[in-house]
Amino acid sequence: MSKELMQLAAINLKKAVPLMLKHQIPTTPTNYALWYAYVDEKQPNLNKQLDTIIQEYSTCSPSNSTLLYREFVSDPVEVDVIEMRQSLEAMATELSQSLKDTNTDATHFQKRIDSNFDQLSRIEEEGVSLEKVLGIVRNLAKESDDIRSSTEYFTGHLKRAQQEIDTLKAQLKESEKDVLFDALTGILNRRAFDSDLAGLLSQSPEGLCLILIDIDHFKAFNDNYGHQLGDTVLKAVAKRLSESCRDGTKIYRYGGEEFAVITPNSQFRNARHLAEAMRRALEKVSLKDRRKDTMINNITASFGVAQWTPSLSAAQLIDQSDKLLYEAKRLGRNRVMPIAS
Ligand code: GH3
Ligand code: MG
Ligand code: MG
Repeated sequence: MSKELMQLAAINLKKAVPLMLKHQIPTTPTNYALWYAYVDEKQPNLNKQLDTIIQEYSTCSPSNSTLLYREFVSDPVEVDVIEMRQSLEAMATELSQSLKDTNTDATHFQKRIDSNFDQLSRIEEEGVSLEKVLGIVRNLAKESDDIRSSTEYFTGHLKRAQQEIDTLKAQLKESEKDVLFDALTGILNRRAFDSDLAGLLSQSPEGLCLILIDIDHFKAFNDNYGHQLGDTVLKAVAKRLSESCRDGTKIYRYGGEEFAVITPNSQFRNARHLAEAMRRALEKVSLKDRRKDTMINNITASFGVAQWTPSLSAAQLIDQSDKLLYEAKRLGRNRVMPIAS
């Protein structure tokens, strides 16, 4: 994120948070994203609708917020989560700086008061009337009280804002997680795959291999036992495949019933052996279908394994694995291509 963008994000954030507080909008990541988009003023329709709601109810109910969020923000925001986090951090840094400044001011002021009292005691010694001295003391006391309470108010306000921001940061970290993990199986998702693979390839890895996995005749599970059991099969497959991953090897849900495994540091032969081990492990999975009271133990998958070579793009590597996977399907499924030797 460029410096300008970050500054803009911080400006928008500073506008959004007070508005949310004013209208008593809970500071959830979703609401934050919504109000961020509002102050960004790029979507006149969003502003119009939100203005109307606020005018009528002085706040925006969770259901209305969700609807607006879905209509106007949901997609770009996922991408923006990281940017939002950065802008939050920028603002948090700024706030803690202000906090420090305030403390410094208070110390400075205290010193001034102290020296005034010093002076006063001297005046007394020099024989100024008691009445006059008391007047000065009263003034000073009042002045110091005013300043102390306004400083306390300001410091308290900043502290609360800081806490708010810490909470937001924690929540954003959570939603960032959501962006990278698949909701059904809990393993990393396609977005994580794309970004991890690009990151690894940019470092010209020594031995990177990609395994693409596609469950055989998966549609039949859905058709025969229902979509819910299909989901259960997907979860069981993801779990079993994950159990086979070690030493930096990561598994991703690549698509519906497709998985991808990246071995960042392994010879081609070892990657093919890993695929073969995974294939056998899946054969052993067995699930109970409660509705039909039958066991499902015919889960198999096909595997395509490709090795990265310098100059191969991510797309080309995926294409190679995909072609081999297709070959495995064509040859009768439940196999690894190229054959592990
Ligand atoms: P093949 O052996 O050639 O791969 O056959 P297939 O039936 O596995 O392949 P196909 O691509 O025809 O079907 C994949 C099915 O996966 C279709 C789709 O409904 C189902 N599917 C995709 N995502 C999900 C999901 O999240 N849950 C469930 N239950 N089914 C899903
Ligand atoms: Mg498929
Ligand atoms: Mg399939």
